[in-house]
Amino acid sequence: VSDIPDDHPRAASLRLRERIERHRETGLVAPAGPIAHGRGEAFDYLLGEATPPCVEEDIRAAAALLLEAERPVISVNGNAAALVPAELAELGRAVPAPLEVNVFYGRTSDRERLIADHLKAHGAKTVLGVEPTAKVPRLTSARGWVDREGIARADLVLVLLEDGDRTRALLDWGKRVISVDLNPLSRTARDATLNLCDNIVRAVPKLTEAVRALQGDPLARRALIAGLDGRASTRRVLEFLAQRLLALAADLGAPGGDA
Ligand code: ATP
Repeated sequence: VSDIPDDHPRAASLRLRERIERHRETGLVAPAGPIAHGRGEAFDYLLGEATPPCVEEDIRAAAALLLEAERPVISVNGNAAALVPAELAELGRAVPAPLEVNVFYGRTSDRERLIADHLKAHGAKTVLGVEPTAKVPRLTSARGWVDREGIARADLVLVLLEDGDRTRALLDWGKRVISVDLNPLSRTARDATLNLCDNIVRAVPKLTEAVRALQGDPLARRALIAGLDGRASTRRVLEFLAQRLLALAADLGAPGGDA
């Protein structure tokens, strides 16, 4: 039970942190998971802890890509499983796309199994990656292990809170990559076919909603994909951030003035 009072100004953010801490203790989240979460929190603070308007459009484009893909897979690590297990299960059902466990640290099948069981307990039907059977070419880290029936065959992979090496290797393997990463400067965000610069807790439910809205509309899907430009999306996010920071600075008044 949480000790965080409902009226605490940072209650929502503190509850997410609490969830990461709790799952660090259960072993679902890796030792470095809280550090990755903290980096995400910092960028979310800068964004204003809300989905930027330009990212709403990126989410629709990502939904179109997921629906048009032949074999999409949702790649899930410990932090993602701790933060949005039911929401990922729902997204998997809506597309439909299997979830595949992929961990960077502590690859022992115990941890993968823990993550898979957690996802299943929250409604996921198919969870791949517990006994990985294939390797991403030219990726030497443990994260290179993938499922022959999942990421190995996928034409599109949705990667959540990912490191840059694997994103690059998946792209080099001929796959499209949609990432969710709050840091628009990360290698993942800059390399992905499309990065959703948003907190996973907001982005995943919005993505499911967009998938449902576009399900019966192939023309809209194709128009969104035709207009897709991952670099332009990241540029819009950086412009949004720059303008927001300048507006916040202006609110503090002119230097030396008392406005
Ligand atoms: P890269 O190798 O791509 O430059 P990195 O080494 O920083 O990135 P990691 O630390 O492995 O990558 O990945 C964590 C990423 O996930 C960070 O960029 C962080 O901003 C992002 N992140 C953490 N928590 C969240 C969250 N809740 N929602 C969205 N993104 C998040």
